[in-house]
Amino acid sequence: MNTAIHWFRRDLRLSDNTALNAAAGAAEQVVTVYVLSDWQGQHRWVGPNRQDFLCACLQALSKNLEAVGGRLIIRCGPAERELEKLAAETRAGAIFFNRDPDPFGRAVEDKLVALGGRLGITVSAHDDVALHARDELLSGSREPYRVYSPYYKAWAKLPKAAVGPRVKHLRTPPDIGSLPLPDLSHWKLQSESTRIIEAGERAARQRLTGFIAAHGAIRRYAKGRTELTGPTTSRFSQDLRWGLLSVREIYHRCRDLAASLDDAGRENVEKFISEIAWRDFYFQILHHFPHVLHDDFSPATRGLPWRQAADRPKEFARWCEGTTGFPIVDAGMRQLSATGYMHNRLRMITAMFLTKDLRFYWRDGESFFMRKLVCGDIGNNNGGWQWSAGTGADAAPYFRVQNPWTQSERFDPNGDYIREWVPELRDVPPGRLHAPLAKGLRLAKDYPPPMLDHSAERDATLAMFKAHRASGKTEPRVE
Ligand SMILES: Cc1cc2nc3c(=O)[nH]c(=O)nc-3n(C[C@H](O)[C@H](O)[C@H](O)COP(=O)(O)OP(=O)(O)OC[C@H]3O[C@@H](n4cnc5c(N)ncnc54)[C@H](O)[C@@H]3O)c2cc1C
Repeated sequence: MNTAIHWFRRDLRLSDNTALNAAAGAAEQVVTVYVLSDWQGQHRWVGPNRQDFLCACLQALSKNLEAVGGRLIIRCGPAERELEKLAAETRAGAIFFNRDPDPFGRAVEDKLVALGGRLGITVSAHDDVALHARDELLSGSREPYRVYSPYYKAWAKLPKAAVGPRVKHLRTPPDIGSLPLPDLSHWKLQSESTRIIEAGERAARQRLTGFIAAHGAIRRYAKGRTELTGPTTSRFSQDLRWGLLSVREIYHRCRDLAASLDDAGRENVEKFISEIAWRDFYFQILHHFPHVLHDDFSPATRGLPWRQAADRPKEFARWCEGTTGFPIVDAGMRQLSATGYMHNRLRMITAMFLTKDLRFYWRDGESFFMRKLVCGDIGNNNGGWQWSAGTGADAAPYFRVQNPWTQSERFDPNGDYIREWVPELRDVPPGRLHAPLAKGLRLAKDYPPPMLDHSAERDATLAMFKAHRASGKTEPRVE
């Protein structure tokens, strides 16, 4: 074939990129394109942090492509329309891409397949984003898995695809029109953070090397992953979200490392690999149960009388801004706003606070996280929120309501994390940071008193769930 298009989506790398390798192998010239979305201003699920990171990733990708003789073409608008135009302009014989895990991306793929039929060109879709494709694992009764442990048992037994090569040479035909590389003004957004993790494939590869190095965090991951400060986890989530790293490469490098370690060392690596499998688990949940995007996974919890952010904007704003008066919750929310990242433990604590203490519907928190997180991923975020709210696949049972005071005592005993993000509390001794405070009392003069009484709200939440179970109402939510 003379010319093929490779459509970059969430695979912004040259190393082990399944569809890009296939395109480079099939055609003499490859038109590498990224199609920008054309919304502007507000978006329910997107905000400046992730778009900032995307812009920097596209800059890095453009340089990496030039270094191997190619060029990144930027277009904007509905992808199927732009790819049709590009195919006509370049007389491409095929469009290659890696499949998207979410229903929005899949809808575009369906349109491309129809387009291919109409134009008489090949549409070549590849599985790349996960270690196992979304319908590769089914239970003994050929049903999708709803619970993580049996899914993981089956997942762990399956062989994993090998790591592919890095593209070394690429020729993109000259004279193809391209928009400039974007910045935030493309979406009429303004930067919210100057502390976003470094973008681009090279930075991601450095994180991978650092994580598995002799003193890397994987060496004590099983215990270390619960510590809130310091490099205790991989920090790969945005790299996996944008495909700066291949999940196959992560997996195989971890496996190679495990082979050189003793039992204790291997345990750390196994724990890490089991976390990566959660990502595949949530992708297949999203594929088989797409209703999770607007409703509870579990029929038993549908129709619970949750509060809505639109009806209680002041309380919701206190959670968003990190002024709830609960130090560990506020520290997490402020870290999220300042950096576009939050530690997993904090994601659970803050999500449970919103759903189980404030009784807001999880979708309000889900969309706020999506707007702030650099790694915001529809599958993982939805899974994490429904897990925390007790409405999801293999969720925390509804009666598990984390106590923010004991959580902070357990996971931030010296208060280092709280003091880093809530400077008003820098002089408060650790013991007082974790001691439940009655409503109305303050820990410091410029820090608000707790906005609620945790044990009273916990009881009210349990009563809400119990009453709903007793009523037998499980009707789907009306959008
Ligand atoms: C309410 C809530 C919202 C979340 N939203 C997102 C999100 O939008 N995007 C996202 O990538 N993760 C999300 N997570 C999962 C998890 O918190 C992050 O993946 C993790 O904190 C990222 O840090 P890390 O890369 O250092 O993780 P590590 O501990 O180093 O884990 C390595 C990788 O494994 C995967 N992983 C780890 N834990 C989970 C998990 N519980 N569920 C799914 N995948 C997991 C991620 O891809 C992660 O990068 C959410 C969790 C909760 C409770």
